[in-house]
Amino acid sequence: MIVDAQGRRFRNLRVSLTAACNYACTYCVPDGKRLQAAERELSGEGLVRAVRLLIAAAGIEKLRITGGEPLLSPKFDVFLPAVMALPLTDVAVTTNGQFLLRKAPLIVEAGLKRVNVSLDTLDADRFRHIARSGDLATVLAGIDAMLEAGLKVKVNMVPMRTANADQIVPMLDYCLDRGIELRYIELMNMGHLKFDARYERDFIGMDDILGAIGECYEFTRTDAPYDSTSIRYRVPGRGHFGIIANESEPFCSSCTRLRLSSNGLLYGCLSNARHHDIRDLLEAPEHLALMRLQSVLTRALGDKQSVFTGEVTVMKFIGG
Ligand code: SAM
Repeated sequence: MIVDAQGRRFRNLRVSLTAACNYACTYCVPDGKRLQAAERELSGEGLVRAVRLLIAAAGIEKLRITGGEPLLSPKFDVFLPAVMALPLTDVAVTTNGQFLLRKAPLIVEAGLKRVNVSLDTLDADRFRHIARSGDLATVLAGIDAMLEAGLKVKVNMVPMRTANADQIVPMLDYCLDRGIELRYIELMNMGHLKFDARYERDFIGMDDILGAIGECYEFTRTDAPYDSTSIRYRVPGRGHFGIIANESEPFCSSCTRLRLSSNGLLYGCLSNARHHDIRDLLEAPEHLALMRLQSVLTRALGDKQSVFTGEVTVMKFIGG
């Protein structure tokens, strides 16, 4: 097992099925254009092979399927059942939820247990303003379908000063009422935001998020797993929520994440644009591929930073 000087190793893999997305969220896409697939994207089967090899070479235990929008891609129908059969302790999907209803039979049939839905507001107009596409009611119906099928649902919200700050508490009400864990993600200075004054203007830190919640709810901080991205809080008698506090309380020192883009690039760190092309390696016979992966993984682990500073890397390629 490859371990770095800080004791970090790769345990969690996030695979972006496609860079294409049916939304054009303001904080992810600069010009409002819908995202297209990347050049030379791997097939569903190619991505499954990559996951199998990474389990063997890096000891990957958990897999997150992301994008772009993973449910938009036909690869999802091949990829999900295939990875559910692999020796992983946990498989989850991160989606904007627009196609959850349509994909519910496949998701249930495949035996998926967890889904994370990105949702920034419960106000239909604001929803269209932020996502620049999609339909709020369809997303909410998709969430209901997942809950009815017995899946565990988490909702991810990015609070932004000028877009949805007043939704911090209503979103928590909605989630607590349904047994959903809401996770607030501090806005990250990724992609176009890295050089954009809108980042400073819109950023809401953990203290302000907790301040807003504290006006309506009592809560206490609880333990979270060692390599969790989220700081967890318990609302007595109601449930939990979390904050992914890249800026306020970075979790780089215990990060176990490895990312694979849809066109076969491995990223060892979200805060480092360096990547490693494994497309050719995936064509090699198994023993050779595993050998070559060892040196790639050593370099990728070396890319991990000790502090999150953001990057010009665009989330759509590496899936957040
Ligand atoms: N389309 C899927 C979805 O909406 O969940 C997966 C891809 S999306 C890039 C994954 C997550 O990254 C979403 O929860 C989104 O809100 C988050 N994200 C994208 N850009 C971000 C930024 N600059 N800061 C914080 N979160 C961001």
